Amino acid sequence: MAPSFAGFPGAELAILAMAFAWGATLGSFINVVVYRVPRGISVVTGASRCPACGTPILPRDNLPVLGWVLLRGRCRVCGAAISPRYPLVEAACGGIAAAVAAAEVVGGGRTLPWLAATAWQGVDRLLVHGDFRLVASWVLHTGVLLLIVTWSLLGRSLRASPRAVLLAILPVVAAVAAVPDIGPPGLSPDGVRWPHEPRMAALVSAAAGIALGWLLGGLMSGPNDRASLAAFGAAIGWQTLTVVTVVTIVIRCIARCVWKGRSPAIDPLPWVATAAIVAAGAIRHAITLSWSALAGG
Ligand SMILES: [Zn+2]
Repeated sequence: MAPSFAGFPGAELAILAMAFAWGATLGSFINVVVYRVPRGISVVTGASRCPACGTPILPRDNLPVLGWVLLRGRCRVCGAAISPRYPLVEAACGGIAAAVAAAEVVGGGRTLPWLAATAWQGVDRLLVHGDFRLVASWVLHTGVLLLIVTWSLLGRSLRASPRAVLLAILPVVAAVAAVPDIGPPGLSPDGVRWPHEPRMAALVSAAAGIALGWLLGGLMSGPNDRASLAAFGAAIGWQTLTVVTVVTIVIRCIARCVWKGRSPAIDPLPWVATAAIVAAGAIRHAITLSWSALAGG
């Protein structure tokens, strides 16, 4: 009998912990990008320094989330306060990576349109059957979400140039063309593959997602919404993209009423996008059901 890890909390928790650590580490890099790029400082050279006294930050103090907690939010040398925004961004990115891993890797691919139809295998799909498409989809979807986090944090301090948007979206398109089974559903509202050849279908669906994301993003208030929604549409398809756009607009409107016109400190878009990827299977199912109800009269 083949070994089974499904439902075994040790294997599942280990995967979630690894995913969190990766996400938090990328979050630490995103903090560097968001601080340095608008100031015209290189993101690859030069160690991070305390903005108050200029002392280079030790590698152990640079550990995502933990570094800030162990220092109790103060510089080791001069005692200047370090903004809690840094560990919060790291924890948020770790949480996003873990949430996607929970849905796609621990969930055995049941939220992915082309892998969902098989019987539930949970982590066995990866650990026993060696289906690395689950890891590929986790990398792709976490990557797109962290890109959206970065663009949302840059906000008004830096609008992504068309060249930067193109450079960010090209790897997404390449990934769904290389592994069509982790790509967006087909073009029709019920997501049937068209054309029948999987690679062509993935490219056509990604192109439609980019076009609609660019269009809808232009109607929204965030300076980088266009770029974010185009990348999201390329990876997830127009169906889920539409839901994300509507929900984000509604939450932003409510937030603006509550905070009387001031924009809230936390942008809902990355969170709505994450929730949509975790619930992608359910959203597609709802769209398919309403479509067949409409088509059936
Ligand atoms: Zn200092």
